[in-house]
Amino acid sequence: MKICVIGTGYVGLVAGAGFSDMGNDVVCCDVDKSKIDALNGGEIPIYEPGLDKLVARNAAEGRLTFTTDVPKGVAGCEVILLAVGTPPGKDGSADLSFIFQAAETVASAMTGWAVIVTKSTVPVGTGDKIEAIVRKKTTHEFAVASNPEFLKEGDAVNDFMKPDRVIVGAEDKRAIDTLRALYAPFTRTSDRMLVMDRRSAELTKYAANSMLATRISFMNDLANLCELLGADIELVRRGMGSDARIGPKFLFAGPGFGGSCFPKDLRAAVSTGREVGYKLEILDAVVSVNERQKRRMGEKIIAHFGGSLKGKRIAVWGLAFKPGTDDVREAPALTLIDQLLAAGASVSASDQVAIPAVRKSLGDKIEFETSAYASAKDADAVALVTEWHEYRRPNFERLKSVMRQPVLFDGRNVWNPTELRAAGFTYYGMGRGTK
Ligand code: NAD
Repeated sequence: MKICVIGTGYVGLVAGAGFSDMGNDVVCCDVDKSKIDALNGGEIPIYEPGLDKLVARNAAEGRLTFTTDVPKGVAGCEVILLAVGTPPGKDGSADLSFIFQAAETVASAMTGWAVIVTKSTVPVGTGDKIEAIVRKKTTHEFAVASNPEFLKEGDAVNDFMKPDRVIVGAEDKRAIDTLRALYAPFTRTSDRMLVMDRRSAELTKYAANSMLATRISFMNDLANLCELLGADIELVRRGMGSDARIGPKFLFAGPGFGGSCFPKDLRAAVSTGREVGYKLEILDAVVSVNERQKRRMGEKIIAHFGGSLKGKRIAVWGLAFKPGTDDVREAPALTLIDQLLAAGASVSASDQVAIPAVRKSLGDKIEFETSAYASAKDADAVALVTEWHEYRRPNFERLKSVMRQPVLFDGRNVWNPTELRAAGFTYYGMGRGTK
């Protein structure tokens, strides 16, 4: 099949590479020349494990190409995927200007029948609007389908190649058959494609992210309660997660969720409800619990040092919103750094891959170190925000020897409080008893 992917970011690049790996001819288009130049030069503009090999293999075979010439990319393709960003607008609703702009370009450049597939996360009814935009500009037959993407950054290639399910929202038979054929190699072991109407497919994506975020905020709320009651959220988590009806995933207390999806998708879902006169009260609470939680570590650190961090040096471990990615959009570490700086601290941060992304926005307001121990040197406290593997079991003796004061704020509950207290550290977790 000849496929065009519009938007070569986290979703578009993974999808383009994945489809080309199954033998399709894929052209990935982007208006960002620096991204396309990098890709044509053999570089991957984002960090995603395994993506470099997938891209290199298929580009070398000539099945995967990159261009800024979107109309040229669209011409002759029967599947056109829209994978552009849908960032939050000022009122929380999804900004659809990139999607509509891409739809216009597609409409003018189509050369025959095509299914236009929305991979971006878009509010219910966006498919209808895309259809109207395209119909105005083309005489060709076409269909618009919703095919939301569920990949996780950090494990995106695996998720894309072995999806739990593929959701297709379409009523047009030719579109459904085309997408079935496209996804057949990904769902060979069992048919995991769910075909439904377009509106239900659009809503499914928001519903899934909202449920996952709800679990996180629920646990963070309980963690704060644990601190007041002297209970340990880690034990509570295990106790409740072992109930088969609940399951163990997405039950970790922490510094709040971030990233390019949950915060914006929740706000967009709340806004969608508002537009049709319905208040999504649970999601409103999930968002506000998360906003509060993102400030929680900072508050603990400031409280520990008596209300001011003047003259204090804090090491922040982990900048990306989760391990395995360089995505720092709405990352809790950035909220923490703002709080620390405002309270007078100097900050030394470390991360395996996200330093360049944070340096772009923070410049020299903080120091950056690739080594965790270098960032902890002369620190009055270490705050672990993102649990990259190397932070999970550091050499605590070495850590203590480089720090000015042995104080640890474990934002992910990955360290053992008993062990660390015995080793002379002051330890704060999230929801672990009174500390
Ligand atoms: P991104 O910001 O990484 O990439 C979007 C790309 O689209 C950018 O490179 C941008 O330059 C390009 N673009 C914008 N307008 C364009 C146009 N008119 N023509 C060509 N290119 C254009 O975004 P992302 O993280 O890949 O997310 C894309 C969509 O997928 C969003 O709606 C997001 O919510 C959704 N999504 C993201 C993830 C994720 O983990 N990142 C997962 C599932 C769904």
